[in-house]
Amino acid sequence: MDVGFAYGLHRFDRKGNPMTARYDFHTHTVHLKCANETMTIPAMVVEAARLGVTKLGITDHLNTFDKLPLHECIRADIDAVETSVDIYLGVELNYMGCDGEFAYNEETRDKLGFQFAIGGIHATYLKEYDLGKIIDIQHRHHLATCENPLVDVLVHPYWFGKYHFDREEWPWFDSVACVPESYARELGQVAKETNTAIEINGSANLVNSGNPPEYVDGYADYLAIVAEQGCLFSVGSDAHDIKRMSTVEATWAMVERLGLPDDRIWSPKCAPYKRA
Ligand SMILES: [Zn+2]
Ligand SMILES: [Zn+2]
Repeated sequence: MDVGFAYGLHRFDRKGNPMTARYDFHTHTVHLKCANETMTIPAMVVEAARLGVTKLGITDHLNTFDKLPLHECIRADIDAVETSVDIYLGVELNYMGCDGEFAYNEETRDKLGFQFAIGGIHATYLKEYDLGKIIDIQHRHHLATCENPLVDVLVHPYWFGKYHFDREEWPWFDSVACVPESYARELGQVAKETNTAIEINGSANLVNSGNPPEYVDGYADYLAIVAEQGCLFSVGSDAHDIKRMSTVEATWAMVERLGLPDDRIWSPKCAPYKRA
């Protein structure tokens, strides 16, 4: 695998093109109470600028329609903030039940002015441990997410909430080596066909203290198979605390490790919601 090379502050891909896609398209705010009080829009913008982020996506959860008014508050904060970073208004979607739907449609998108949506599965939907079933259910939802025309980015493939495994006393999912290669290939192919970006997620997958040190190497191998199919990738910190925004740097390093040029890194086609 080609890792590109660095010269001074500028990094280059293997063809010698500068790599400038320093984005973060997955962040949470204090408004939905999933992120903590450090994740205010003004603080996020300052931290993004410090990290060298050039495009920042605000993507708080919309798990149920009744949370929509909270997204109005996020928009008001973005309207008020001074920024040196381009800001995009997005949303993160979660399935309402196994093989369920997202709390999202064109009307919701247009009412709130969401410029993009990221989405995916956030549970095993199982009562009893069965590794094969766990993977099959994830894969099925991954493909369904890609097929959904309202979703731009599939979030954090094969992330799981560790608390759930611990509570059930299940063996922790500490490696993606158990994911069949055929699933990785199919995901990459469907992502390419549907023009959905596959997310490289800082906090959930790459910088997660719940995982052993070798997890990231295995995850890189998995992503490399997905990448061979020619799909786009999105990068994001998934920060819920301001200190975790720096995990986006691990996603940029992964992009270099995979040898992905800038034109394989997704960003919304539209102008920013708020320009730097
Ligand atoms: Zn998520
Ligand atoms: Zn998230």
